[in-house]
Amino acid sequence: MNFCPNCGNPLTPGQAGGRERLVCSASCGYVYWNNPLPVVGAIVEYENNSVLLVQNVGWPKEWYGLVTGFLEGGEEPAAAVLREIREETGLEGQIVEQIGIYTFYQRNELIIAYHVRATGPIQVDPTEIQDYKLVPIDKLKPWPFGTGLAVKDWLGRRMIE
Ligand SMILES: [Zn+2]
Repeated sequence: MNFCPNCGNPLTPGQAGGRERLVCSASCGYVYWNNPLPVVGAIVEYENNSVLLVQNVGWPKEWYGLVTGFLEGGEEPAAAVLREIREETGLEGQIVEQIGIYTFYQRNELIIAYHVRATGPIQVDPTEIQDYKLVPIDKLKPWPFGTGLAVKDWLGRRMIE
């Protein structure tokens, strides 16, 4: 964000709400709050023994992650995550539980993570997903950022149960 969306003048560092933020240089009052964007994510447990990980288009070949997506206006997070699963993988899922809410600082996102069960044929949308893999749950290793934190919590709870 470099320019004010109200008046088109450059944004400059200034004080607002008790910290330094980008504010309009023409003092029209605009503040770029840079609030995190909510994202839904799912640990898709596939046919009871594996987790479906996906590689989004453009990711490096060794990267796989959870199915994630943005909410539509007016959409409940649980409905959004099931829609994203349907759109990206062709699967009809069922929510088991909400795992938690996680901050992804690097991307300025707030991830609402769910455990979802799904069965049936997997048909990924090639415009969004370039590859996927099914990882047996006992081989699943969390990654130390973003949705990986939900994986870590989910695996930890399974160990306790
Ligand atoms: Zn302005």
